Amino acid sequence: MLQVANVSFAYDKRLVLSDVSFDLAPGGLLGILGPNGSGKTTLLRLLGGLLRPSAGQVVLDGRDLGSITKAGLAKRMAMVPQETYVAFDYSVLEVAMMGRYPHLRTFEVEGPEDIEVARAALAETGTANLEQRSFMTLSGGEKQRVVIASALAQFGRRAADTGRRPVEVLLLDEPTASLDLGYQLDIASTIRRLNNDRSTAIVISTHDLNFAASVCDQVVLLRQGCVLAAGPIHEILRPDTVKDLYNVDAVVEQHATAGHLTIVPLARRATDTP
Ligand code: ADP
Repeated sequence: MLQVANVSFAYDKRLVLSDVSFDLAPGGLLGILGPNGSGKTTLLRLLGGLLRPSAGQVVLDGRDLGSITKAGLAKRMAMVPQETYVAFDYSVLEVAMMGRYPHLRTFEVEGPEDIEVARAALAETGTANLEQRSFMTLSGGEKQRVVIASALAQFGRRAADTGRRPVEVLLLDEPTASLDLGYQLDIASTIRRLNNDRSTAIVISTHDLNFAASVCDQVVLLRQGCVLAAGPIHEILRPDTVKDLYNVDAVVEQHATAGHLTIVPLARRATDTP
């Protein structure tokens, strides 16, 4: 569905991604993991068409992203940044409605259909009860789910309700960065539900290995802009790859109660350089 083929990217002349390749299957749940500065956000912005590769291609269903119109791409791909600021005192419903812009013609205002889609999206992220609240006054975890609802409104109705093939890709940048444990669990269950119920393909950039292990089925390990390893999470997340990625000794084991891999860092390894 989404192919990243030999992508490199430089800010000015500084190369920050080098020859990155991987595939995202329809309905896949992929984590991009790596230390700070390894290029995760840059890669996510390339996947979302917000940046263009210096070399290589990002291909969505056989078409280079560069050949898809902005409105066409927005109906299929949405990015949820780490934090969202709104300049005015918008209500939660108004923020969800912002996702409808790519569906409107010039000077067209939202109609009842758009309101219905936005309300359904709020319901899908468990935020329908916040509809009239001021977005600014929400907690970080609530804001995150409302912004995801706005992304769903951008995609439109659930494919299952329209008989269409699901073709949407949600890109989440460090979704747990500022969330406490309770909200982290909320976001994890929202992500799993969207993936199950809507078949939304989801790409998550994160340095939180345990969070990734709790939701992702595939991972790409990124180190200094290069792919260290990519594939099914159970094959790729191992003590040796965690050590290569973070220079940390760790235990990686299946947690019987949680039902997914868990990573416990034990010690930072001495670096080779004096
Ligand atoms: P991560 O998300 O893994 O922390 P980023 O993609 O944010 O990594 O950054 C990768 C590298 O690119 C870093 O060295 C960072 O300083 C640099 N970088 C990020 N954004 C910009 C920018 N707008 N201009 C120049 N350099 C940038």
